[in-house]
Amino acid sequence: MQISLYIHFPFCKNKCSYCDFYKESYNKEDEKDFYRSLCIETELASEDPYLQYAEIETIFIGGGTPSMTSLSWFAEWLSHLKRYFTISDNLEFSIECNPETVTLEKLKVLSELGINRPIFGIQSFDTGTLKLLDRKHSIHDSYLAVYNANLLDIKNFGVDLIFGLPYQNSRRLSFDIDQLLDLEPAHISFYQLTVEPGTKLFKQIDNGKLKLPDSDLMLGLYKGGCEKMSEEGYHRYEVSSFAREGFECRHNIRYWDGSDYLGLGPSAHSFINSQRFYNIDNLNEYNSKLHSGILPRTVDESGPEERMIEAIMLGLRMSKGINRSAFRKRFGISLRDRLNKKQYDLFIESGHLVPDKGSLRLSDEGFHMADEITKRLVK
Ligand code: SF4
Repeated sequence: MQISLYIHFPFCKNKCSYCDFYKESYNKEDEKDFYRSLCIETELASEDPYLQYAEIETIFIGGGTPSMTSLSWFAEWLSHLKRYFTISDNLEFSIECNPETVTLEKLKVLSELGINRPIFGIQSFDTGTLKLLDRKHSIHDSYLAVYNANLLDIKNFGVDLIFGLPYQNSRRLSFDIDQLLDLEPAHISFYQLTVEPGTKLFKQIDNGKLKLPDSDLMLGLYKGGCEKMSEEGYHRYEVSSFAREGFECRHNIRYWDGSDYLGLGPSAHSFINSQRFYNIDNLNEYNSKLHSGILPRTVDESGPEERMIEAIMLGLRMSKGINRSAFRKRFGISLRDRLNKKQYDLFIESGHLVPDKGSLRLSDEGFHMADEITKRLVK
């Protein structure tokens, strides 16, 4: 049996204005405690009988800012992991990297430790926008990070770019995408900026200090971006994910497919043996539970109905769509029977939904309003 592993490294040096991920301010002592706890958690998690013969197929180190990790502690945890779990020979091993944190030396050590997929969080090529988002890297840092990856002959690197930024228009986005394409990444995550309640950005928008593009412009930005990337040979395999053939993120595909994954670290989620659970999003409590030999988890009590809705939402985000027989096998009901019949017929007729080789997927036009379509379908 194959599983994926997600690690949440919970530290950042600063707080970006739009971010609502769980993170703490970095300090060395706290990082040391975190790694101690992570080793205990790794060992305790491996005792699950369901995971006894599991082989880790993909690892994704996210956060937080995992690229600022202390390499020796990271290496120590990695050897610990290998003691308790079997790792696939064909491992996809990703790490999120803030451009200002990855020197050539660091990237080299990470790659010697087995990381074969760094993801650079470039987000924008506009200095003013980076400032406005409270990102700490410069455009020069972004170029340098990719330059270093090229020096080390790392082919499978990804970059993240945000669209729908304050005051963004087609010309500005076009500039960002041109710069991005020039770096020739294997993978591009092209995210729409989401404004999460409680963030600094939310307040700035709420009190009128900043303005986001309206919904028509937002749609135009997404469509324009998708076209440019497709012209350059990147295919969209999920609403926000574009890749050169063969460089799709296997780790994320496993999330969207409903495959098993184990999440370790504060705030990490897991989906194991059809059971979802959430780790506590508080570093002190995370540490203290683990030091008492208890996994810091809460089991998700949601039932099959919520699971079904989640599977539909995630499945329709992928260009291959939802496999009907896999859906029936998993939930004991046909996909067609679970969807709102009136909306289903309307979207099939308008061409937004396409029945295709035993699957149901969104058309190109459908992708541009994926969230709205799925909402109406599962009502
Ligand atoms: S570096 Fe990443 S995790 Fe940290 S605050 Fe910024 S966006 Fe959030």
